[in-house]
Amino acid sequence: MHTLNKNKRKQVKRKINIAIDGFSSTGKSTLAKKLAEQLAYTYIDSGAMYRAIALYFLRHDIDYEDHEEVAKVLPNITLSFEGQEICLNNENVDAEVRTLKVANIVSPVATIPSVRDFCVAQQQAFGKKKGVVMDGRDIGTVVFPQAELKIFLGASEEVRVERRYLELKYKGQEVSREDVRTNLLKRDEIDANREYNPLRKAEDAIELDNSALSVSEQIDFIVNWVNDRVASIEID
Ligand code: C5P
Repeated sequence: MHTLNKNKRKQVKRKINIAIDGFSSTGKSTLAKKLAEQLAYTYIDSGAMYRAIALYFLRHDIDYEDHEEVAKVLPNITLSFEGQEICLNNENVDAEVRTLKVANIVSPVATIPSVRDFCVAQQQAFGKKKGVVMDGRDIGTVVFPQAELKIFLGASEEVRVERRYLELKYKGQEVSREDVRTNLLKRDEIDANREYNPLRKAEDAIELDNSALSVSEQIDFIVNWVNDRVASIEID
């Protein structure tokens, strides 16, 4: 009987939640997507949710500085994912939310407490069943403070600008490196200094600087950490 239970326990690979936070364009989404694929976990791009809300405000000409107006229109917004792509009121807007037009207003929009509470509630619901990799700015501190593995990703400014510039270029957007740098630095500043749920490294997060690491090198590190966490849960 004892042996059977032990074997049974070995077969059930426990799933954990993985929180990946960091400044803009540190490669969080690319890493989180690949990691989720490798572990057969669900990937949730929390930034896409804030971007979709910003897009809604743009499309409907909502003055996002008017927080009463914002609270009034939030119930009209439904966010969902089609695979890994974000949908706004059932329309796939994944490409549109990545434009600089949206990037330029998303951080001020993400400072609004009612917007954050709206997103955080849905993000927490996604994580209930475990097996989620979520990237963002407040995942390890606010969304999943109990996440079994938290990573705080970093990269040098030059590397971050180049990565985002090449990504936008590849998508056919006409931008200069300087536009990209200005947007990144501005978003970092707003994210780190907002009053409500600012970007912070969780105390128990592991810091990983990926300036000189390939995605597969980062995945190798993380899969080891995941295995350690899962093993320690299974022993408990
Ligand atoms: O991750 P991404 O760059 O797509 O996020 C867009 C913006 O959404 C960030 O610059 C930040 O202002 C906001 N955000 C946030 N909290 C998160 C994810 C994103 O405030 N968890």
